[in-house]
Amino acid sequence: MKPYSLPDDQGHFGQYGGSFVSETLVHALDELKQAYEKYRNDPDFQNEFAYELKHFVGRPSPVYYARRWSERLGGAQIWFKREDLNHTGAHKINNCIGQILLARRMGKPRIIAETGAGQHGVATATVAARYGLECVVYMGSEDTRRQASNVYRMKLLGATVVPVDSGSRTLKDALNEAMRDWVTNVEDTFYIIGTVAGPHPYPAMVRDFQAVIGNECLEQMPANAGRQPDYVVAAVGGGSNAMGIFHPYINHENVRLIGVEAAGEGLETGRHAASLNAGAVGVLHGNRTYIMQDENGQIIETHSVSAGLDYPGVGPEHAWLKDSGRAEYVGITDEEALQAFHDCCRTEGIMPALESSHAIAHAVRIAPTLPKDKIILVNLSGRGDKDMHTVAERSGITL
Ligand SMILES: *Cc1c(COP(=O)(O)O)cnc(C)c1O
Repeated sequence: MKPYSLPDDQGHFGQYGGSFVSETLVHALDELKQAYEKYRNDPDFQNEFAYELKHFVGRPSPVYYARRWSERLGGAQIWFKREDLNHTGAHKINNCIGQILLARRMGKPRIIAETGAGQHGVATATVAARYGLECVVYMGSEDTRRQASNVYRMKLLGATVVPVDSGSRTLKDALNEAMRDWVTNVEDTFYIIGTVAGPHPYPAMVRDFQAVIGNECLEQMPANAGRQPDYVVAAVGGGSNAMGIFHPYINHENVRLIGVEAAGEGLETGRHAASLNAGAVGVLHGNRTYIMQDENGQIIETHSVSAGLDYPGVGPEHAWLKDSGRAEYVGITDEEALQAFHDCCRTEGIMPALESSHAIAHAVRIAPTLPKDKIILVNLSGRGDKDMHTVAERSGITL
């Protein structure tokens, strides 16, 4: 296998990716691409990024052997990469640190972001506060209602939250509004995208910032488990925690990469967020990829018990990895994810995010079918405290 070196200069991963934006943004994206090319190889930038990840985020996050659960299942060993232990409770902060350091070097004093459930908004507001930059977060008004505590969290951190009243008043509408703001204020504004989507260079740039996850595993697994894993499993919403752990393993041919999408109420019901398993190729958020659309090319509403997997597209690199066969993508339903959530709490003393619970559920499904000397590494992308209300509601409990 040739060393993996995608995307090409135009941001293509095979037929996916690229840059589908209005004329006004072409220059801004060129500027960003040049800045990123310059700083990704700049020792000062890399040192500052590493310093912040260590002292502000708390990295490296450990790898952890889920011994009790593995032994109970009686098959392969299950290991967790503990992104839930990061400051703010998930992997999203890694990318936000990288992008805000870039914004500072590019002299952009104003930060914008879009958010669905509010997790990327909170991570962005956090780094904006850390560096004293102005921060505006777009959020569908339906989402601001459903996720009121995250709205308050962003406000406490000094951000302005703009509710978006168009369309279905959810993430895809917030995405459009953020793009519109960027077109209008492109001179002084940096747009922090929260996953491996958007126009080139975002998918590659976000992946590279998140690759710290997999790079740590490359060293931690031999040191702690005795060797590299046989399987790497991660939940896929837009796909950033999955790309972050997959990417350093792509050239390790014996390591199987498995992305887990939200099958919601079941793939056959149409009520899910599984773009790779059940979507079609189209353009969303400035790139070509698999998206959830109807016969007329309109984006359709997604469904998942976990707000963070509720994204109607998927990063273009995942589309490529699927078509090329280098990674596999499976679905886990709401019910299966909730079961894994409860079992993880009780068996390991770890409350995983509902997003991560999808990845865990798949690992738990395959572990008993594999010999005891096999190793499954699961990216535990975030902690589940934020999901307690959802879980309680599902169990008929009012908190
Ligand atoms: C946002 C989020 C996800 C999904 O986003 P990706 O870009 O697919 O990683 C997964 N897990 C957690 C904990 C999240 O907050």
